[in-house]
Amino acid sequence: PIATLNDAGLLKTQALIGGEWIAGAAHFDVNDPATGLKLAEVPNLGTPETLDAIAAADKAWPAWRAKTAKERHAVMMKWFSLIVANADDLARILTAEQGKPLAEARGEVVYGASFIEWFAEEAKRVYGETIPTTDNGKRYIILKQPVGVCAAITPWNFPIAMITRKVAPALAAGCPVVIKPAEQTPLSALALAELAQRAGMPAGVLNVVTADGANSVLVGKALCESDAVRHLSFTGSTEVGRILMRQCAPTIKKLSLELGGNAPFIVFDDADIDSAVEGAMISKYRNAGQTCVCANRFYVQEGVYETFIARLTEKARGIKVGNGFEPGINQGPMIDGNAVAKVEAHISDALAKGARVVVGGARIDDRFFTPTVLADVSSEMLCTKEETFGPLAPVMKFRTEAEAVALANATEFGLASYFYTRDVGRIFRVGEALEYGMVGINTGLISTAEVPFGGFKQSGLGREGSHQGIEDYLEVKYLCLGDI
Ligand code: ADP
Repeated sequence: PIATLNDAGLLKTQALIGGEWIAGAAHFDVNDPATGLKLAEVPNLGTPETLDAIAAADKAWPAWRAKTAKERHAVMMKWFSLIVANADDLARILTAEQGKPLAEARGEVVYGASFIEWFAEEAKRVYGETIPTTDNGKRYIILKQPVGVCAAITPWNFPIAMITRKVAPALAAGCPVVIKPAEQTPLSALALAELAQRAGMPAGVLNVVTADGANSVLVGKALCESDAVRHLSFTGSTEVGRILMRQCAPTIKKLSLELGGNAPFIVFDDADIDSAVEGAMISKYRNAGQTCVCANRFYVQEGVYETFIARLTEKARGIKVGNGFEPGINQGPMIDGNAVAKVEAHISDALAKGARVVVGGARIDDRFFTPTVLADVSSEMLCTKEETFGPLAPVMKFRTEAEAVALANATEFGLASYFYTRDVGRIFRVGEALEYGMVGINTGLISTAEVPFGGFKQSGLGREGSHQGIEDYLEVKYLCLGDI
């Protein structure tokens, strides 16, 4: 499938440092999760190359920050247009290395590109402030300035969007970036970098350092320990987020963290059940359940519990699982064998504690997992405590609104949450009570470039997207003018 690209030049297998494509001495394989076949090999870089990339970014910083916002806007919009124009090829590369169905991959390309467009526009709206003086001899002026060299460490589940969501606000603010893409999905990152080059991104402003799992630890360390790197943005597991935060302590680096979630999905008796089922399908089974905002646990009020399960089961049974390049496929492979094993472990734990399989319940093989619904789930089960990151919908019954809110909030995570009701009062009560950064009300799909994406509690720090998303990349400077 990768061989059928319209533009073969998008299949880059070298890293990008200071505007130069780097072949690297060592390499690692990129494999197709649907077949296990090798797609390509890319440089396995480490500490020295990371330091080179940081130095290149540092060198590029003065000229990039000195450009007017409109000039940065122009380069970014060119990049945006090239991504949109090459969406089919980017989608193929994405499906090949990540597995999601081609239509979903294309959706991600467009969604990913939208962050570049949004932040290119926001670049022009980085307003300062003047503060009314309290001393007639002085004036108070507030400037916003780019923070400096930024690092972005990104996951494999959205190989394009997780990069653009970090890189676009950095570039817009006037910061150069060093990107360390996930080891499973470096080809999408390199294709994006190739298009950035074609768009006229100055050398060193956007760097991509590829590394395998072991070397990623070294690259991460070098990025965290560098004094020149002023900001680190990471999307991934809470566990790795903690490591990075610790590593960033000595340099007091600014951090944006998008970590794990454990999204509750609540259906009240008064909900439109068909709409709730539709929302559940999108929220749960998109990307084979491998998104950090995926519904992880379902709480359904007793009056509609059986109906909801029956309708969800019917829909889940209709999901076509297979290679994402085949037409009509709705669910691709899991990213790897560990992902399959985790879903399996959550199911066997639940069954041992009294849950019942309504549909699915087993792997198809080492790569694919059957869409699963479990009923009679309880709070003791692992699948309600940890993110399953797979196509498993555990459903639990509740009686009162207070009980549902308490169950939903009983977690150290606080990224996305969802609830379905037609009661206006309840919309406000529950919407305000949920300790989550994002709440989908009567919808299972909440992400878009214009809104703040991020979590409460141990789900992270900062917000991405929206006008807030650029703030993490800006320092606030206060000028105090005397002798007026
Ligand atoms: P996932 O479970 O989704 O793979 P991870 O948090 O393990 O999430 O990985 C997300 C990103 O973090 C990937 O780019 C990975 O290479 C990187 N990563 C993992 N461990 C470390 C580490 N110790 N230091 C720096 N980066 C890391």
